[in-house]
Amino acid sequence: MNDRDEDPWYADGLRFACTGCGNCCTGEPGIVRASDDEVARMAGHAGLEEAVFRDLYTHRLSSGGVALRERSGNACVFWREQVGCLIYPVRPRQCRTWPFWRANVASEGHWARAAEGCPGIDHGPLFDAEEIRACVESDGTSGVVPE
Ligand code: SF4
Ligand code: SF4
Repeated sequence: MNDRDEDPWYADGLRFACTGCGNCCTGEPGIVRASDDEVARMAGHAGLEEAVFRDLYTHRLSSGGVALRERSGNACVFWREQVGCLIYPVRPRQCRTWPFWRANVASEGHWARAAEGCPGIDHGPLFDAEEIRACVESDGTSGVVPE
């Protein structure tokens, strides 16, 4: 038996519907990672040369890789009040897979903790275990699960 044969605690699925509150794009400092392909897509969307886009909107992580810059107050550089995400169609995978990150679905406790900052969690349509697992396996995050 391997991990895939075992039912996760979310075997019956989990509910999520984004309210657009912006909590996950603002507030506490965070790291939104972006792959080279994602940087290229975002630069194309913004109509900028990739090198210019990297200079303006990303920074290198000491742990390796690239992340989006934050503005003052820790908001993502692409978040605008009343508007939302300026690059929504090409936002990085890490943003697309929220809240189904390995760190959030590691246990019911981790999920409950994520829900404290995200009012969309446990509301809206049901995502089945396979959809959730697909996100978890490629969530775009560091994959580190907090204690
Ligand atoms: S915190 Fe949750 S509900 Fe609010 S914008 Fe982020 S994903 Fe949507
Ligand atoms: S890229 Fe968009 S969705 Fe992702 S954190 Fe920034 S504003 Fe939010």
